[in-house]
Amino acid sequence: MKLNFFFLTIVAITFSIFVTAEVPEKKVREIHDKILTVDTHCDTPMAILDDKFDVGKRNNPPQSRVDFPRMKEGGLDAIFFAAFTGQRERTSENIENAYKMANQMIDATYEACRKYNDMAEVATNSADALRLEKQGKSAIYIGMENGFPLGTDIKRVKEFYDRGVRYITLCHSLNNDICDSSSDRKGPEHNGLSDFGKEVVNEMNSLGMMVDVSHISDKAFYDVIKLSKAPVIASHSSVRAIAHHNRNMTDEMIKTLAKNGGVLQICLLDVYIKDPDTTTVRYKKEKELNRIYDTGYESMTNDEKKKLREEWRSLRENYPNVLPTVADCVDHIDYVKNLVGIDYVGIGSDFDGGGGVNGCADVSEFPNITAEMLKRGYTGEEISKVWGGNFFRVFKQVETLAN
Ligand SMILES: [Zn+2]
Repeated sequence: MKLNFFFLTIVAITFSIFVTAEVPEKKVREIHDKILTVDTHCDTPMAILDDKFDVGKRNNPPQSRVDFPRMKEGGLDAIFFAAFTGQRERTSENIENAYKMANQMIDATYEACRKYNDMAEVATNSADALRLEKQGKSAIYIGMENGFPLGTDIKRVKEFYDRGVRYITLCHSLNNDICDSSSDRKGPEHNGLSDFGKEVVNEMNSLGMMVDVSHISDKAFYDVIKLSKAPVIASHSSVRAIAHHNRNMTDEMIKTLAKNGGVLQICLLDVYIKDPDTTTVRYKKEKELNRIYDTGYESMTNDEKKKLREEWRSLRENYPNVLPTVADCVDHIDYVKNLVGIDYVGIGSDFDGGGGVNGCADVSEFPNITAEMLKRGYTGEEISKVWGGNFFRVFKQVETLAN
């Protein structure tokens, strides 16, 4: 009896040491460097355009969170550069400006990859990431965040596909001609997906372009799932049961997405990971800046835009936020794993668009996520699914189902 107790105590102690111990860095790197890794959302093209930022040189956070040298350091094989346009009033002039802006971001991405062709290449199909990894190059995929540049011209879907765009996030923080947004204060306008939005989803299906449901309203999400012939992605969204933001996905939505065969790429942006402390000065000031951004960013001049981004930066420096940790992020991965299984979750950082947490402030720190998963007992196979296996399964299926 006594011996049994002694034995059980030893087992319990060993187990607790095992689960709390840090995983040796060598083991983390071994696994992390072996697997194919992808981050499905960053807003770096905006920085390339606006700040004349050099993506081929090593930079530092918080000014910049993604560049080719740090992708190497962080063992990140592939990334989606988003051609992002903020939503403005849907006049033909604004649509043309957004169209022009999206094209400039795509041009800037090609240009950067041409300039640093020993480090990176624009990738356009699901097999490219592995091919480029073998050549020691980063795969730079192009996504489009917000379908605003399409206006109501269905031909533009193919036009952007031909330019290399492989997903379209149907909308951003406001409703557009495609669908309702999860965060438009005016509420729904189309009751989900509009008729034009339906055409867009069908066209994307037939071209082999991924439909991105991040940012869209819950009703629009269910409309997309019902209509889409191919599984869909949420390129950067997290779990609403943990962080109660409308941008995140409810359990019901995650279950529906999994049933559809799609994937939820956890977004590493503070308020999508953890509910904020609403009593701080920083919270109040940031809310004000966000309001200015939401209501007027797109009509600002380039200098005003730059000034607003600088105000954001200085706010972050003067009132340092208690950022969520890597462990908080992996809680979201755990949650999805427990809810629907390991096959439906991945990572979309939103770096250079607000993403970044304590312990994972830029792409060079991605191995810390792998370390946390190892610490929690994830197998190499599970980690490989989270870092790319799941996403590339969906990407490939979208290509296969194209006409
Ligand atoms: Zn976004």
